[in-house]
Amino acid sequence: MPQMLSNNLRLVASHCISGIGRRPPSRLYVSGLSRLPSPWRRYTHDDASKSDNSPDGKSMACCPSDPETRARLTPPQSELERSRTPLLLPSQEPEVENESILLTKSPESRLQRFREAFEYPQASPEWSYKAGREVTVHGWLGKPRVKGSKLIFCDLSRDQGNVIQIVSSLHQKITSGSEELTDDRIEAHKSLRSIPAQSPVAVTGILEVRPRRVEETSVSDALPQYWDLKLNSIQCLNPFPNDIIVSQDAVWSPKQRHLQMRFDPLLRDRLRFRSSIAFRISKALRSLGFTEVETPMLFKSTPEGAREFLVPTRRAGYTYALPQSPQQYKQILMAGGVPNYFQFARCFRDEDLRADRQPEFTQLDLEMSFASGREVMTTVQSVMSSVFRFLHDHFVPTDVNGVTHPVHSSKKLGEFQVGSLRYPANLSVPVRTYDEVMSKFGVDKPDLRIPSDIVRIDSFLPTELVSMISKLKDPIVDAAQFRLQGSPSENLAFIREFMDNLPKTSLKFSGDSTPGVFVIDEAKPLNGLSAFGHEAAEKMAAVKGPHWHKLQDGDVLIVQARKKIPFHGEGSTDLGRLRKAIYDAAVEKGLLPRDHSFRFLWVTEFPLFTPNDPQNIAPGEGQGGRAGFSATHHPFTAPLSAKDFALLETDPLSAKADHYDLVCNGVEIGGGSRRIHIPEIQEYVMRHVLQMPQEGVDQFAHLLEALRAGCPPHAGFALGFDRLIAVLCDTESVRDVIAFPKNMKGEDMFVKSPTKVTDEQLATYHLKAS
Ligand code: ASP
Repeated sequence: MPQMLSNNLRLVASHCISGIGRRPPSRLYVSGLSRLPSPWRRYTHDDASKSDNSPDGKSMACCPSDPETRARLTPPQSELERSRTPLLLPSQEPEVENESILLTKSPESRLQRFREAFEYPQASPEWSYKAGREVTVHGWLGKPRVKGSKLIFCDLSRDQGNVIQIVSSLHQKITSGSEELTDDRIEAHKSLRSIPAQSPVAVTGILEVRPRRVEETSVSDALPQYWDLKLNSIQCLNPFPNDIIVSQDAVWSPKQRHLQMRFDPLLRDRLRFRSSIAFRISKALRSLGFTEVETPMLFKSTPEGAREFLVPTRRAGYTYALPQSPQQYKQILMAGGVPNYFQFARCFRDEDLRADRQPEFTQLDLEMSFASGREVMTTVQSVMSSVFRFLHDHFVPTDVNGVTHPVHSSKKLGEFQVGSLRYPANLSVPVRTYDEVMSKFGVDKPDLRIPSDIVRIDSFLPTELVSMISKLKDPIVDAAQFRLQGSPSENLAFIREFMDNLPKTSLKFSGDSTPGVFVIDEAKPLNGLSAFGHEAAEKMAAVKGPHWHKLQDGDVLIVQARKKIPFHGEGSTDLGRLRKAIYDAAVEKGLLPRDHSFRFLWVTEFPLFTPNDPQNIAPGEGQGGRAGFSATHHPFTAPLSAKDFALLETDPLSAKADHYDLVCNGVEIGGGSRRIHIPEIQEYVMRHVLQMPQEGVDQFAHLLEALRAGCPPHAGFALGFDRLIAVLCDTESVRDVIAFPKNMKGEDMFVKSPTKVTDEQLATYHLKAS
C-alpha cells in the first residue's frame, strides 16, 4: 500500500501544474477532482484573518447563497444526472439532507437509513487481490465518466490516495460468459451514475488488471499493479452534499479544515510524514535506552519563563496551569532514578503568535542523567542523523507546486532519485558560540545557506560616513554583501524596491542606524563607493575572508551601525534581520539560487541571563525577579564553567550558560541545557541572582526538594517537533504540518474555540465575585 501510494504521489508530482510560482498566495486551490490520482493541489494555510473578512463570515468554498452564482458554479446536470435513482439519494434538497436519523418520522425509515448507511460489506484485504476475483473495496467515489448509456468509468480513491477504476458496462459482448446482465448489475450501473461524487462507498466487483493510461507510461516500470473493478454492486455510505462545491478554484478556509484535509493530498501526506518521523525518532531513542514517560497536563503555575494558560478549578481560588514544557517533571524523573527519558510532549505558552508559533505545540522532550551538555548534543545529533538516514533511504525530494516535499519511495524511479543530496546520509553539524554567530550572522539562529558572512568595517570608515548612517558615538559598523545574479542596474532596482517597501514589512529595527546601501558599479566613481572616500573604498574593496568575496561589479553592500557593547542574549541585530530578509527576497526574485540543502548548526555558550527589555517583557513572562534580567533559557540552566559560576556573584550578565540550540536553515529547531542539580545553587540563583520574591521561589519548592534527594547531574533538550516537520516539508508555517492548528489570534476556526464563558461556568469556577 505505501509503495503504491508513493508511486501515485510521484506520478502525480510529475504532472504538477507548471508555471506556478514557488510560494502560492495564501489560499488553497483545489483542482478538479474528477479524475484520480488527482494532481497535488496547490496549498498554503489560509490566513484566518483573511477568511474571517468574508462578508458573511462564511467559507468561500461553500455554495454561494444567491441562486444565480450557484447556478454558474454548479456544473450543468446531464439528462442522466437528472434521472438519479431515488434509492440511494432520496433527495438533494438541503432540508432533507440536514434531517437527522433521529428526526426521521417512522421506525421503518430509520431502519432504512440504518441499512443504507451503517450496514455495509467489509473490504477485502489487499493481499487477496487477484485478477478474476470478486472483492469489496471502500473508498471515495470520483466523478463518473459516462460513455453513452451503457458504459461508465469512475475512479474510486482509497486510503493514501491510491485509486481503483470502477468499470460498469451493460454491453452484452463484454459481459458474456458467466457475467450475466442481472437486475442487480443494472441497478448498480444506475447507482454509479446517481451517487454524488466524493461520497464514501462500498463497491463490490471483479478485479481485472488495467492497462496503464498514457500519462502513467513515463514511469510505468516502477508503478504498482493498476486494477479495474468490474462493478457488481455499489452502496453509498453517506452522500456528499450538493451545497459543498469542490471545484478547480475552491478556497477552503480554516473553518473547513475537514475539507481542506480531504481535498488537499499534500496536507494529508504531511500528516503521514509527521507520523513516520515521530516513529523513527521514537525508535532511535528506544534503541539508545530511553524510556517514554508521560507527564501531567494539569500542572501548576511557576515563573519558568513563558506566560501560561491557567485552568480554573471548582475549588475557590485554585487553578492549574498547563505546562509550558515538562521541564520540571523531567528533572524530577532524573531525581527519581529514571535515567534517560523522552516524550512527545504537548506544551502550552500564552505568547504573541507568529507563523512559526502556536499556543500549543509538540516538543520531542528528553533528559539524561549523569550526562553533560555535550553528551546530550551528541545524542540529539545521532537521533537527527537517523532521521536523515531514513529520509535519505526512503524519501524523494519532489517539487510539488513550488515546495520541495518529501515523497515516500522505496524504489528508484525515473528522473527521481532516492537518497539525494537534500537528505544527506551523514549529518554534519558545526558548533559555533553565541558571540560568534551574533557577530558573523547578526542572529542567534543563522541561516547558513546565505552565502557571505557579516564583516566589521568601522576600523577604516571615515567618521562622515558613520555619522551619515548613525547618531551613535563610536559605534561598531558591520557590512553584509550579496552577490546577486543581475546586472548592476537590475540589482540596484531590486535593492531600491526592497528598501522602499521595508516600512510595509513586519521587520522591526532599533533606530540606532539607517542602513547604507551601495551597489558596486565599475561605471561609477570609486565603483559606486564614493561615499566611503578613496582610502576606505580601497580598503573595502580589499576585504577578504573565508566567507566574503572580494567586491565585484554588481555586488550589493549593506552597511549598518550598532552600539559598541557585548551581546547580551538578544536574538538578532538590525543588520542580521535585514540580511535574512534581503536573502529571502533575492531568492524569491530569482537573483540568488534557491538552496535546497538543510544546514544544521549548534549554537552554544549563550549568556546565562538576558536584560529585561521593558518594551518586550509582558506580565507573566520571565521569573519576576528584581534583578532587571531573566534567565535566557530557563532558571534551571547551569553556568558553563567555574569562571561563569564565579561571575554569578560579581557580574551575572557576563556569565555564559551551558545552553545549546540546534538551528537549521535559520530556524531554531530545539534547545537544551545542563541543569543546576545542587539545590543550594538553584536556590541561590533564584533568590540572590534573579532576586525572585519569596512566593516565586516557593513555587519551585517541589523541584528543590527533588534536587535535595541526591539528584544526579543531568542535562536535556527539547526539539520543536512541529518546526522540524515544517522545515523538512519546506513549508513556512507550522500550521501546514498540524492537523488542527490555531490562527494568529489563537482560535481554532473549525471548532470555534475559545468560546465565551457562561455565567454558570463563571459561578462554577469561582471566576466571578458573587
Ligand atoms: N524545557 C526547555 C524548553 O522547552 C527545553 C530544555 O531545556 O530541555 O525550551
